[in-house]
Parts: sequence; C-alpha cells; structure tokens
Amino acid sequence: MSSELKITKEGLKDIAVTVDSYRIRVLIDAKQEILNSGVYNEKQYNTIVFKMFDDELIKYKLYNFLSRQKSNDFKALKKFSVENSIQISKTLSLLELLKNENLIAVNEIYDDVEGDENTPTLTTFKDFDIKSFDVNPSKIKSIYEPVKTIFETDNCSGCGLCVGICPVNCLNVYNGFGKIDEDKCISCGLCYYICPRTYLPVSVLNMVQEGASQIKNYSKVGHFLEAYSARTKVDEIAKSCQDGGITSTCLHYLFDANIIDMALGAKMSNTPWRPEPIILENKEDILLTTGTKYVNNPTLKSLSELNKKKANLAVVGVPCMMQALLKSTIYNISIPALNQIKYRIGIFCMESFSYESLLKICELLNVDINDVKKTDINKGKFFVYTTSGDEFNVPIKEIGQLAREDCEVCFDLTSESADISIGSIGSPSGWNTVLIRTEVGKELYNNLIENDLIESKKLSEVKPGLPLLEKIATSKKNKCNKHIDKKKEENLRFPRY
Ligand code: SF4
Ligand code: SF4
Ligand code: SF4
Repeated sequence: MSSELKITKEGLKDIAVTVDSYRIRVLIDAKQEILNSGVYNEKQYNTIVFKMFDDELIKYKLYNFLSRQKSNDFKALKKFSVENSIQISKTLSLLELLKNENLIAVNEIYDDVEGDENTPTLTTFKDFDIKSFDVNPSKIKSIYEPVKTIFETDNCSGCGLCVGICPVNCLNVYNGFGKIDEDKCISCGLCYYICPRTYLPVSVLNMVQEGASQIKNYSKVGHFLEAYSARTKVDEIAKSCQDGGITSTCLHYLFDANIIDMALGAKMSNTPWRPEPIILENKEDILLTTGTKYVNNPTLKSLSELNKKKANLAVVGVPCMMQALLKSTIYNISIPALNQIKYRIGIFCMESFSYESLLKICELLNVDINDVKKTDINKGKFFVYTTSGDEFNVPIKEIGQLAREDCEVCFDLTSESADISIGSIGSPSGWNTVLIRTEVGKELYNNLIENDLIESKKLSEVKPGLPLLEKIATSKKNKCNKHIDKKKEENLRFPRY
C-alpha cells in the first residue's frame, strides 16, 4: 500500500472499496492454494497482492473523480494525472480498465482532416466524452474470468503468457490451443488481465512506446525512431540464418557483453518442424533457434520457470507476444520473471499455422516433412526448400484457410510493441529490415554497429524498402478489421483493441 496516501474521508472510502474488490479478495482467499502450487513464494505473493492493491486503489480514485462530474473529457484526465502524480498513459490504461469493467462509458471523438489527391483524409483524435455509471464497484459481477473464454472463441494467439503467470499453474497452451484445469483454477482473473486478446489498449501501447503524452495516429507499422536494412558479420550466424541474422546477432551481443543471463525463444523439437519454447542460457544456444518457424510456439509460457531465478532476460517473439509483454508492463502486476525482461526483440509475422496444417501444406506440395530444409513466406507465396535442393511453393491465398483462425484477428505485422523489430519484408534477399522503436532498442542496435557485428544501411537506401512493408502491414490490418467486423456481425467474441 502506498505510504503517501492521504488520510481523508474520501481516501478511506477508496481503501474500503479496494479491500472489498473482487480481485484483491480472491488473491487473499486463495493464498494457501497459490503457495502450495510453488509458482510464487510468500514474499513474491505478498508483492503481487500489494501491487494489485495499489493499482485497484488508484483505479477507484479515478472512478470517484469521474463520478463527481456529469461528464469528463481529456482535460479532466490530465488534471487527475497531475493531482495523483501519474503519467497520462497510466490514467488512460485505468480508464480502459474501468470501461471493461462496465463502470464507465467512453465515447471517443475524432476529427476528419480532409486530404487532397496526394494525401488521404486523416482521422485524428479530438477528445473523450466519459460518463460514469452510479454503481457500487464491489457489488458488480467481476469480468475477470479465466482465459478459457478466449481459448474457446478462437481468439487466443497462443502467446503463452497466461501459462507463464498463472499463480496455480492450471493452464497450458500447446500447438496454439489452450487448456485449463478447472479444478485447480482459483478464478483470480490474472490471465484475463494480461492477455492481449481480452482487451488491448492500442493507443496507450503506442503512447508508451513513444513516451508521448497525446493520443495520435501512428504510421502503418507503428511508432519507430529509425529504420535500417542490415545483415550479420558473425560467421557462424551468417552460415545458419534465414535472412540477415540480426535477431541472433542481438542475442550474441547481449550474451557476450554479459548484459543478459537468459533469453526466451523458439527452437525445433525432436519432431521435425514442430517448434518448442527454449530458455537460452548462453551464446552457443543461439544456433538452436535460427531459422523462421511458421508453426505456433507459446514462448512466453517459459516465464513460469524463471520466477525463482535472478536473471536479466531478453525475449524473442512474434507481435502477439510483444503486445502481451507491453500490456503486462503497462498493467504491471509484479510478476518477478516479467520484471526481469530487459529487451523485447520482435519479429515480423504474417500468420502462423498449426503443426497439422504444416503437414497438410507439405502433403499438398508432395514433400516429406523429414526432407524440409527451410520454409519461407515471400512475395505472396509459401516456399518449401528440401535437403536435396528442390524448391516448392504455393500461393498463400490457396492455403489461407489452413492458417490459425486466431491469427485472422491479428492486426500487427511488424511487432509494434517491441523495442526492436526484425523481419525480411522490405530488404533485399539475405538482409533484414530493422525498425528501432525505443531508446532500449536504439542502444542495442548502436552497440551492434560499434562492435562491428553487423553491416547496416538506412532502409530508405534499399529497395523495395518501407513502402512495401507499409503496404503489407496495411493489408494485414485491413484483413483483421474485416474479420473483427464479421465476428461482430455474427455476435461472436472478438479481441477489443
Ligand atoms: S492470447 Fe496468450 S495470454 Fe491470451 S489466452 Fe492465448 S496464450 Fe493466453
Ligand atoms: S487460469 Fe487464470 S483465473 Fe484461473 S487461476 Fe490461472 S490465472 Fe487465475
Ligand atoms: S499472426 Fe499474430 S496472432 Fe498469429 S502468430 Fe503471428 S503475431 Fe501471433
């Protein structure tokens, strides 16, 4: 509990409501089950409960603040932020939470700035119109259900974060599909809280990435500081990498310079082309992870193994994993392993397949999965290269129905929530496109250059460059919007972005 809390009548009322909040009560009631499961020790459990208390307290303070006026706008939110010494992005994340708990209604007002023949019409954020409902927060039915609903409605991206944080270890995600042991579940809703597919405050994510204090429209590939085309100079990585080897070179540098102790990523399992999560412990492990994998891998589930280890971490993952990590940074619930993540290294991802779908693609191309040397998506086609040197391909359109349904509601191609995003689209063959998004990513990339580990050019100097990347990113966003609209029409659950 915050020691700076002022003892006023209003303040005491906020504390009383917070103590009675569903999310606090359930964690306190299930203390023994949580400790028995061994995921968190008592000290870690206490930290999680107190952090949750602080966040619930400030959330109810915001609710009370909004309830005092008939309606509120962006200026009112800024006033609340100043009065409570918190960033406006934090206030906006709490606003999103209250909206999802049905305690308030938020109407976002936009302005259309008309363009001309060269510039399309721009829609810009103008203001909020916020109304609060007159209810006792502790009496409302909690929305914090387990993520079973996300699994069962084809919305789960398979990122694995819910498995990585569940305090009683009752979840699993395998092959992109989740399972829950309902007998063990304590209905704490922590999984719902951090899942990127329940609700994701995208405008807050972008603000946090940029460190901005305004809500704005970001480019088709999200906020970025700099864009490059690059390839590795590390021989052993160059020999085994799929494109420019920049992801592996980032890890190579971070291990070499003793900046990280471990990294989370994906490696191939004993079953050909079925990936599995790996915790890399040294530079040598990097070679186990090279090459693009198109079968879903719940990388973030490994976090549950790292709560008891003091280690600086890097995570390599696809956009839905970067969203999950940034959301959990914004709604920090003091999970020890999450707090140890120092680098979010995102890779581009158009879609992923289940293992069974990959087998079907091989069958379609008449290739034995045991003979596959490399797979690639390029120029609208899925390529399979064999150990005997043959190349097979099929247009993505023809295998679209084999992609995971959950990927249809994914809007992000370029890992917009990462520190540094890496992919192949936009760069010549053998090179990577790199988008530097945060100061952390910038420092890492500069160190790769200073240590002579990579060759780097501005993305504007290569073809096809940023225009192609933006075009493909836009088509993914449009496809996602179409699928979400379809889900809305059919009255199905959809992720709230
Ligand atoms: S999207 Fe991630 S956090 Fe959400 S249910 Fe699926 S695996 Fe869990
Ligand atoms: S499945 Fe979700 S709601 Fe159930 S115990 Fe785990 S984190 Fe809590
Ligand atoms: S398309 Fe999106 S949801 Fe699917 S694996 Fe890639 S990043 Fe995750």
